[in-house]
Amino acid sequence: MAKTDVKAPVTKTSSENGKARTALKPEITVAEKLVELFRLQHVDSQVDRIKVQRGELPLEVQDLEDEVAGLETRLKKLQDELGEVEGQVSDRQNMIKEAKAQIKKYEAQQAKVRNNREYDSLTKEIEFQNLEIQLAEKRIKEAKAQIDGKKAVVDESKHKYDERQKDLEVKKKELDDIIAETEKEEKELQKKSSAASKHIEERLLSAYNRIRSNSRNGLAVVPVERGSCGGCFNSIPPQRQLDISSHKKIIVCEHCGRILVDDYVLERVMSEK
Ligand SMILES: [Zn+2]
Repeated sequence: MAKTDVKAPVTKTSSENGKARTALKPEITVAEKLVELFRLQHVDSQVDRIKVQRGELPLEVQDLEDEVAGLETRLKKLQDELGEVEGQVSDRQNMIKEAKAQIKKYEAQQAKVRNNREYDSLTKEIEFQNLEIQLAEKRIKEAKAQIDGKKAVVDESKHKYDERQKDLEVKKKELDDIIAETEKEEKELQKKSSAASKHIEERLLSAYNRIRSNSRNGLAVVPVERGSCGGCFNSIPPQRQLDISSHKKIIVCEHCGRILVDDYVLERVMSEK
């Protein structure tokens, strides 16, 4: 016997309410335990099939949602930057307006001055304002070039965002359709699964869950098929096959550790509705 064998526990008849137990609950045979385990496996495999059918879609939707959110943040940042530069342009345009008003004021004052010193001083102020205007115009020109560049980037980002958003909607719809199609069935199967697992003792159930989570195809209980393990397809020695059919204890595959059942168990479960 391999050390991975799951031993069927010795059923205790003397417990604190042993009377009630012996009266109401007859000992569960190994055969019945195997039927219950395989029944659970059969239901869980159907749930697995639904999940395969749904496939990678939930992950794809999640990835797209993340990407769209990232693009949205980037677009917002670019638009903020663009707004800032546009704000700088209008600030400078206002500055130019103010400088021109100042120049007009100085020119008006020049008409009324009484000496050359005052006149020259105003001329200097006017020159200074003109220099300020030239500088502001230069900065505006630079900012406008920056704006053109940023606008191109914003457009590109917006285009990419719109495209991804469309992809997301398509994928979401696909996923919703598949979920709607399979949801009812899956819920019923989940109910069946938890009902089936209630009949199984804790220790066997945790062994089942452990084997199932360790196997890629989710199979923890497999039938013997043409002398081989239905999980890993390694052949099972004849003596072991006899042990499996005798239902004296729960036997696992020597190679993959899955619980093995014979045709009797298989047919019991498959004939149920
Ligand atoms: Zn195996």
